Amino acid sequence: MIGDFAAIPSEEAGALLCIDLEALASNWRLLRDRANGADCAAVVKANAYGIGIEMAVPKLLAAGCRTFYVAHLAEARRVRALTRDAVIYVLNGFLSGTGPVYATHALRPVLGSLEEISEWAGFAAAHPEAPLAAIHIDTGMNRLGLPPETVAEVARALPFAPALILTHLASAEDRADPSNARQLADFTRLREHFPGVPASFCNSAGTFIEPVARFDQIRAGVALYGANPTPGQANPMREVVRLEAKILQLRDVPDGAAVGYNGKWTAPGPRRLATLSIGYADGYLRSASGWDSKTALGTDAGIALVDGVACPFAGSVSMDLIVIDVTDAPAGAAARGKAAVMIGDVLSLDDVAARAGTIPYEILTSLGRRYARIYRNA
Ligand SMILES: *Cc1c(COP(=O)(O)O)cnc(C)c1O
Repeated sequence: MIGDFAAIPSEEAGALLCIDLEALASNWRLLRDRANGADCAAVVKANAYGIGIEMAVPKLLAAGCRTFYVAHLAEARRVRALTRDAVIYVLNGFLSGTGPVYATHALRPVLGSLEEISEWAGFAAAHPEAPLAAIHIDTGMNRLGLPPETVAEVARALPFAPALILTHLASAEDRADPSNARQLADFTRLREHFPGVPASFCNSAGTFIEPVARFDQIRAGVALYGANPTPGQANPMREVVRLEAKILQLRDVPDGAAVGYNGKWTAPGPRRLATLSIGYADGYLRSASGWDSKTALGTDAGIALVDGVACPFAGSVSMDLIVIDVTDAPAGAAARGKAAVMIGDVLSLDDVAARAGTIPYEILTSLGRRYARIYRNA
């Protein structure tokens, strides 16, 4: 078992997921350098964005990371099992009655409402061993956190000293969006209600907006795992995730042959097709389906690389299979048992996400349980 994933031998698996842990560590070091002395916390929620908490966290600890963020208490316990000393924050707030779990495992809640703050204050008053807590201030998401107009009063009445205050950017990946500067101005102003309390502002993409609003800590998530925090520019991060699917069968079809469910894709001439052992049950999103053969080449639908040649999806991504058009790929590479690259080389995580009409976060956190997971440089 690796985390909650049973190990599947690569010769049995339909697809291989390679995770380069040295690239993860290298990405953390790059972000730490951008933090320029501020703490570089690693966000490892959702099983470290799909790559595996039990593999990612020890590598990040070895690189020097000492602060981790998760979304759920169950994730926090998994991180705590790997480190006695690291600081662990739970982003999704404080669920009623869970105080003892925070205290037992020395976990810090990120409190985002008056109700959470008052319940935590009651718990902490009765339990001297209670850990410290952070306070989340909402500067524009309307999701979690204290509304700005309540911050002054909450700060005045707060019966404990918070370990940290934080806010979260709504549009960091779009550097030109004016909301970034507005959120920074609001946070800078609201922070004055918490003199001497450390502050945290940037997520991955925020760390690349100049000048960087470092405060005392940055919270890096998706860039650690290789996604581009500077969309539209060259990706400064290293590739962490590589996905290859095995070719099960090849066939030559005549002009007009219908492929897959509902026959929506028809061959625009005689084509050579390869069927891959990967589908939406593996977490490869169905929205990448190539419905229209007339436009499939050069459109935004899914592709796979066979010996470096881009092969468009022919028809729907089905549960366990994807058909690709390998007419232009070399015959030696488009062969039974050979691999097609689904993520990796020139097919970046960001490109795969765009072709599925989504963001790299969803591609990463959808990475499924049926792949043979191969961890390099553990
Ligand atoms: C998920 C999350 C992060 C990390 O964001 P990335 O864009 O993945 O770097 C940081 N802060 C908060 C509050 C989050 O929810």
